Amino acid sequence: MTVVRLSELLGQPGPSTFLRGVVAGGRYANAYLFLGAAGVGKGTAALAFARALLCETRNRPGPQGGLFDESAAAPDAGAPADDACGACSACQKAAQLTHPDLKFLFPVSGEEKELDSTVAETQQALREDPYFVFNYEKAASIRLSLTRELLRELAYRPYEAERRVVVVRDADRMREDQYSALLKSIEEPGASTVWVLTTARVARLPATIPSRCQRVRFAPLPEKTIQRFLEERVGVANREARLLAALSGGSLARALTLRDGKPLEERDQALALLEPALRGDPAALWKAVQGMNKFGRAGREVLRRMVEFHQLWLRDLLRARQGAPREDLVNRDREAEIRRQAERTEPAEIRRRLLVLEEMLRTIEGNVTPELAMFSALSRVSGGRFDEAAWPPHPTARWDY
Ligand SMILES: [Zn+2]
Repeated sequence: MTVVRLSELLGQPGPSTFLRGVVAGGRYANAYLFLGAAGVGKGTAALAFARALLCETRNRPGPQGGLFDESAAAPDAGAPADDACGACSACQKAAQLTHPDLKFLFPVSGEEKELDSTVAETQQALREDPYFVFNYEKAASIRLSLTRELLRELAYRPYEAERRVVVVRDADRMREDQYSALLKSIEEPGASTVWVLTTARVARLPATIPSRCQRVRFAPLPEKTIQRFLEERVGVANREARLLAALSGGSLARALTLRDGKPLEERDQALALLEPALRGDPAALWKAVQGMNKFGRAGREVLRRMVEFHQLWLRDLLRARQGAPREDLVNRDREAEIRRQAERTEPAEIRRRLLVLEEMLRTIEGNVTPELAMFSALSRVSGGRFDEAAWPPHPTARWDY
């Protein structure tokens, strides 16, 4: 059973220092809102904060409180004043997510009658792996039945601790009436509940929520931090770790998700898609693009990744033109090719191609057919000028942006 403590938050020195300061001071706001991109450690920090807040060793009165029996009341020597001790019974229960004063809500999808087992399975996965990646379906939400139950409990005093902590992961996945109930609780004076909300999409929260919370910002993780984590903690080989870190956009969760696939193979497939376009063979390009029949419901994510592989490749070309050494190249296992292509491609042309891909990423958010978007982008990245007759049939007139 491993948990991550506040002092161990990966690549988040700012929030780590701030939250430990709050814990050491012992004065808590009614609600905290952890903001930042998905997968940078907000949820991990929220649970670490909750454990520190509930820790009994830390909350035991010091010598001045235990006037008549100092030896029994003094905090354990060596226990941190600003973090969970990790050893007391409160810490152990909180780590197991069984502390009665720790409520942990997260979005769930699927049928109501399977709710209990879905929640239990997710909690078990999190106990086994503190870096467990939460992956939601589009419709996943903080379930009404769970918040109703929680609100009933909030009417009573906490069971064991001085305060109760409610952690709500991805709090942007709630309904209007849930937010009103939440606000009421946050604004209640003298409340014995501390709310810790996390969100990667603050714009989806009603504006009243952020304004009532103490906000804590989480930055994207440095590429090097992710690479080191993958190599040292997950055992990923260096060249794959480097590629994953570069693709992660500063999100450890994203890097871990990508690792479940075969990133190097996927990259080679993505780059190979360009070959028919470079040969000036639209029919073959269309066939290749359609052959990636992984599109569909999860398809936009696959497509995004394909485009990102091309972006990383082009950025390597720019780096190579600036004389970057081998270790600065993301795709350094294909260094010779990069150097060759860099030599014959002007920076302006590389930037033009990067713009096409940027545009493509924006387009796939919309209703455009992924295969057509990909066809269009690749043909333009290749510099190919296919005439109108070469384009595949398409339902809309202006799909080629
Ligand atoms: Zn403790």
